[in-house]
Amino acid sequence: MAKLEVHQFPARSDNYGVLIHDPETGATASIDAPDADAVIEGLYQKGWTLTHILTTHHHGDHTAGNKRLKALTGCIVVGPKQEAGSIPAIDVEVSEGDGVAVGKRNGLVIETPGHTRGHVSYFFPDDGIVFVGDTLFSVGCGKLLEGDAKTMWSSLEKLAKLPPETKLYCGHEYTNNNCRFALTVEPENAALQLRAAQVATLAEEGKPALPTTIKQELATNPFLRPSSPAIQKRLGMEGRPLYEIFGEIRRCKDRF
Ligand SMILES: [Zn+2]
Repeated sequence: MAKLEVHQFPARSDNYGVLIHDPETGATASIDAPDADAVIEGLYQKGWTLTHILTTHHHGDHTAGNKRLKALTGCIVVGPKQEAGSIPAIDVEVSEGDGVAVGKRNGLVIETPGHTRGHVSYFFPDDGIVFVGDTLFSVGCGKLLEGDAKTMWSSLEKLAKLPPETKLYCGHEYTNNNCRFALTVEPENAALQLRAAQVATLAEEGKPALPTTIKQELATNPFLRPSSPAIQKRLGMEGRPLYEIFGEIRRCKDRF
């Protein structure tokens, strides 16, 4: 069976829209709906017809297009059960382990709270792709707006355990700035130095640094690396619980 086709495009000021398409059935899902016009333009460019919206969390820059896109296409809006009350036009409420089908391609819901209370990610194991919304960014992670460090760390641990080659799509592109921060936390990390140089070049060329992979993030993303001896030493937190070290890195980024 043919794998999912993915179309990533900029939306709003710094969001990414992503469309996924099952070539066998024609089913097409928008991962979140930051802006109806941008999603419609993406659909038009590819010649695809929207059948689903897979919502990661309730923030307006991820749900603003829900009502209009549903009115225009009759698409099914899927979203986290824990945030159902604040997701416009939601039809299907999902939680940990639920299956989500886009045509014949099967996704799995992974609950990844922390940025928001009910944030979910969508993992398509047979396609090797995960959509993580605002939980994990390339070389960064989402702000802890509705959850504590322990909650977010256990969400990140779930994503870190996915197969290393899994492609990871995020809701935003902050990679260049994230690299500058990460180099203050772990300047001796050679993989991070290389990534930072590549990302700076991509930014100059106006090209996205996304998608990334789980493997690349494990090697470069300080928020996935609280077990790094160099990071622990720099923060003076040797041997502390990993979620506490993660929390300290998040606090440093909030002040950066
Ligand atoms: Zn958000």
